[in-house]
Formats: sequence, C-alpha cells, structure tokens
Amino acid sequence: MRIVLLGAPGAGKGTQAKKLIEKYGIPQISTGDILRKAVADGTPLGKEAKSYMDKGELVPDSVVIGLVKERLAQDDCKKGFILDGFPRNTAQAETLDGVLAEMGMPLQVALSVDVDLDILMKRLTGRRTCRGCGQMYNIYFGPPRKEGVCDKCGGELYQRDDDREETIRKRLEVYEAQTAPLIDYYQGKGILKRVNGEGDINKIFEEVCRILDEATQ
Ligand code: AMP
Repeated sequence: MRIVLLGAPGAGKGTQAKKLIEKYGIPQISTGDILRKAVADGTPLGKEAKSYMDKGELVPDSVVIGLVKERLAQDDCKKGFILDGFPRNTAQAETLDGVLAEMGMPLQVALSVDVDLDILMKRLTGRRTCRGCGQMYNIYFGPPRKEGVCDKCGGELYQRDDDREETIRKRLEVYEAQTAPLIDYYQGKGILKRVNGEGDINKIFEEVCRILDEATQ
C-alpha cells in the first residue's frame, strides 16, 4: 500500500497514520517528525529547519526532498509506505512522482482528510504532547486527568513551538496557498480519495481503511 495523506495541519493525518502502521505494518514517513528530530538533535539540518518551522513556513524543498528520498530507499518501504506531511506543494509532488516512478513503486492513493477551519484551530491550539512517551492530548477534546501531566507515564506535557496561535495561522495560510492545490493535482492523476476527518477517531479510521482497501485491492 503506497499512499499519501493530505490535509491541513491538525486534520489528524498523524493520528490516522499511526493506526495504519499498526494495522498494515507499513512505515509512516512524516517529514514533520523527521525535521523535529533533527531540531531536537541539534544537527546542522535541524538548525536550518527550525527558523522556518517556528515561523510556520515551509522548509526549502531541497532539504525535505533529500530526506524523503533517503527514507524511501530503505528496505522497509518496499512493502509500502504512508507519506504524512509530504508533499506540501506542487514541486514536491512532481519530484515525488519522478522518484517513485524510477523506483518502480508509484503512488496508489492520495487520501485527503477534510476538517473545518474552526475545528482545526481548536485541535492545534489545544494540542499537548508528553515529553516522556509522546502520547498526545487536546485540552478541549481529550484533556489529561490532571492538567499538564501525562495519564500514561506521568511525564510533563508540552506545546509544540509551532502550535502557538500566530504560527498556526501562518501554517494554515501556507496550507491553503501551497498544499491545498495538491487536491486538484491528485484528482487529475485519478488517485484522489476524500474522507471526513471530523468526529470519532476510530470511526474515521474504519472509513479510511474501507477507502484504502477498495483503492488498493
Ligand atoms: P507538520 O508536523 O507536518 O505539520 O510539519 C511541521 C513543520 O515542518 C511545517 O510547518 C514545516 O515548517 C515543516 N515541514 C514538514 N513537512 C514539510 C514539507 N514537506 N515541506 C516543507 N516543510 C515541511
């Protein structure tokens, strides 16, 4: 199964991707996660990326394309992959098509996870992550039992630097201007599917699996 998850920041792509990994045993390639790790490790690439990420802007294509190519070349991607947060603009999408064609493993589905703007804002401004185990919470939709503390491991909860309100507005603007056009791009290639990303996570997941199974059988 070779898929791209499309959708605005906060649409729940990462959450659905994590469930897909469990069910289908294929890796998730999240450029956001790879970049955040580079920032945390303090690598030169991380230092370059951080200034863009903190402003809510896209990291230059040359950087992210290199990261994705490297990841796709690893053995575990032979059985499939879930791209999450990549591509983010048409240039990235075109490069990806070229890379995958060369590798003989073209995309099968681009699945857009659709969520209304007011819900996106609450999901993003309310998002908190555990420093210890990575468990995610939302102070509006799924708060921890004790404020600021992880239910699972007792770790400290933190807010991502790029989840502050001003950065979020910018990220949503960038999405509209640069990433939303990919919906038409994949529609034109005949591989676009859409799912309503509002409501219960498990119900959305059922629908996601139904769509993916049908499209890849
Ligand atoms: P995400 O977790 O996918 O929302 O990504 C967080 C931030 O990482 C974005 O706001 C961008 O600054 C950067 N980023 C992630 N993926 C990409 C990409 N494909 N192209 C450019 N920048 C990216």
